[in-house]
Amino acid sequence: MSHAVLSPSSAERWIHCPPSAKINAEAPRTDTAYTKEGTLAHALCELKGRKYFLGLGPRKYAAELKKLQADEMWQDEMEDYTEDWMDALKSFDGEFDARPHVAVEQKVEFSDIVPEGFGTCDCVMIGGGLLQVIDFKYGKGVPVGAEGNPQLMLYALGALKAYDMIYDIDTVKLSIVQPRIRREPDSWEVSVDDLNAWAEDVVKPAAALAIRGEGEYREGEWCRFCAIRGSCRARAEANLALARAEFRLPPELEDGEIGDILREGERLESWLSDLRKYALNACLDGREIPGWKAVEGRSQRAWTDAEAAFDAARALGVPEAMLYERKPVTLAQLEKAMGKKAFAEGLKDYVTTPPGKPTLAAEKDRRSAVTGRTTAKEDFGDYEQEEQ
Ligand code: SF4
Repeated sequence: MSHAVLSPSSAERWIHCPPSAKINAEAPRTDTAYTKEGTLAHALCELKGRKYFLGLGPRKYAAELKKLQADEMWQDEMEDYTEDWMDALKSFDGEFDARPHVAVEQKVEFSDIVPEGFGTCDCVMIGGGLLQVIDFKYGKGVPVGAEGNPQLMLYALGALKAYDMIYDIDTVKLSIVQPRIRREPDSWEVSVDDLNAWAEDVVKPAAALAIRGEGEYREGEWCRFCAIRGSCRARAEANLALARAEFRLPPELEDGEIGDILREGERLESWLSDLRKYALNACLDGREIPGWKAVEGRSQRAWTDAEAAFDAARALGVPEAMLYERKPVTLAQLEKAMGKKAFAEGLKDYVTTPPGKPTLAAEKDRRSAVTGRTTAKEDFGDYEQEEQ
């Protein structure tokens, strides 16, 4: 797979911190289990999309599905999550007044805006003046939002370039389907004029600096996936300055200040965690980080051969009831084993979702605030008890 230096997936980083582009392009790239399972899930999405929208025949579909199922990263739950993807596509398709033009795994290029800029849209739908770019995310760690998402905005610019001559497009809708995190897709609309203005005013200047390895190092949330996030001087300086400012505290904090400190504290926490990982790797590599060393962490005892150990226990007279415990599987485990559809059809009447325990979340979190009420204790009677 070829990777652009200024890839759309890392656009948030290089737009904010242009010199990071070259550093990351030169860093060794290793596929993790997460990237491999993501690639496989995307391939399944593509296959299902081609079958539904582009008329891929059942025999060819079955043959290609078999190949995907033979992959070491295959998990049966991928079938369910990619069905969620297809449900979202069918629903988007139905929102158009007339059947839209649909493209699956559409290659797009936008080298007029970003040097060597190209990418692949998981799905594109066009009709009635609307271009919709729909992206599938298989990750279950960090929710990815559609609003102002530079990756999808770049895809949309590429798709506009490809289709603008054929279709009259004035509005772009970006949608992200991330079924392992949220049931509903996240969408955002932007006018073609605003998208083009963003390309001119924000992307082009940043890309021109980034491709030359120039510009200002700027730390922020985008550092999360940077190759030098643990050892970056700019990030360290910004976080140390932050820590110095935050810990010069007045006698008592105002509520407004606490909000700011919590927000900044999250950045510090994430930076410290990256710094620890960097220092551990350095120590394991035999380098010296003054005042620190790598040691063996806590380890848990394990059977060398569980079956033989149980046989030996039986021979010693240990009753069977002491060797095994019978306990019900969780709701999530049963859903995974049965498959989402069968679970929903057969057992939905037995499922309830009680209100979750109050938890603190950033303002941008999509969940509704638990406000206008009395206190957390009155809303969630067992809150204090659970905390003990
Ligand atoms: S870690 Fe440093 S180089 Fe990487 S994005 Fe952050 S500030 Fe830029």
